[in-house]
Amino acid sequence: MPENILDIIIIGGGPSGLTAGIYAARARMNVLLIEKMGCGGQNAITDWIENYPGFPEGISGFELSGKFEEQAKKFGLKIAFEEVKSVSVDADSRIKTLKTAENQYSAYSVIIASGAEYKMLDIPGELDLRGRGVSYCATCDGPFFRGKEVVVVGGGDSAVQEAIYLTRFASKVTIVHRRDRFRATKILSDRALSNNKIQVVWNSTAVKISGKDKVEAISIKNVVSGVESEIACGGVFIFVGHSPNTVPFSGLLKMDDKGYIFTDNDMGTSVPGIFCCGDSRNKLLRQVVTAAGDGATAAFAAQEYVENILGTSYK
Ligand code: NAP
Repeated sequence: MPENILDIIIIGGGPSGLTAGIYAARARMNVLLIEKMGCGGQNAITDWIENYPGFPEGISGFELSGKFEEQAKKFGLKIAFEEVKSVSVDADSRIKTLKTAENQYSAYSVIIASGAEYKMLDIPGELDLRGRGVSYCATCDGPFFRGKEVVVVGGGDSAVQEAIYLTRFASKVTIVHRRDRFRATKILSDRALSNNKIQVVWNSTAVKISGKDKVEAISIKNVVSGVESEIACGGVFIFVGHSPNTVPFSGLLKMDDKGYIFTDNDMGTSVPGIFCCGDSRNKLLRQVVTAAGDGATAAFAAQEYVENILGTSYK
């Protein structure tokens, strides 16, 4: 067998990638996890998680991510902090080659756990005032808005949960949502609607964020009446969904029209030996618990794939 070929490379260190790492390293596979920033993914910037089994009181996303990483390292998982730029396969799809800015790696199997990134609104003022009142992370930036009025744009679980979190600091939180009801789950929606620091402006979209050196106001438009108005505020938090981090794999793997990777029940993609788990795959429910389940399945399927190639399978 050629040398320096890893059994499995995992791309991404969020909950699904770290779970895949726990399973693969514990199974004594020759595995490397490559992560572009720090481990944890979106989960690490989630304020509070109360639906991950085993933590009846809830746990902060940051702490839970730390526990995933600690457990993976306990089993000997090696982690390289580099950004994967491309993945290619040899003629018979046996060996996969990954290029980062610094290195080139080869493996029999690849598990993509690259997750998803927040979407931007693409409205005037958003980019200019980013970091000067425009934020995509309440847990990172919330404390800077103590005593100020802030606006949250969006109506999903992220927007509603983070709006509730922001009431710890802000004097008032206005949620601007483009429809007349939230997409968020009922438990979170009810909590927001009964919070006296939260006001909701329904049927409205954000059209402009303004301010000289920092955010001073957001202009919104009522989609029913067409009337535009302005809300004075010190901060604008944007939570309008995510898009998958799958650009390096486009052209190689089958994806849906938004770039989420199609997988089978065992997390297999359209290329044999390449698996995908967590938020970057096409699926119904994107939660830490489903990411962890995906990661375990992907690691086991990758292990079987590699053992079949190398003729070491116990089956
Ligand atoms: P999401 O569920 O896709 O919701 C995005 C929200 O942004 C929707 O309300 C959508 O409006 C709105 N939106 C999208 N584009 C917009 C635009 N251009 N202008 C204005 N509004 C726009 O995204 P998410 O809230 O980030 O959640 C992502 C996934 O993570 C979901 O599966 C969610 O359940 C999960 N999550 C779970 C929890 C939890 O369980 N505690 C916490 C956070 C996230 P419409 O409703 O009109 O489409």
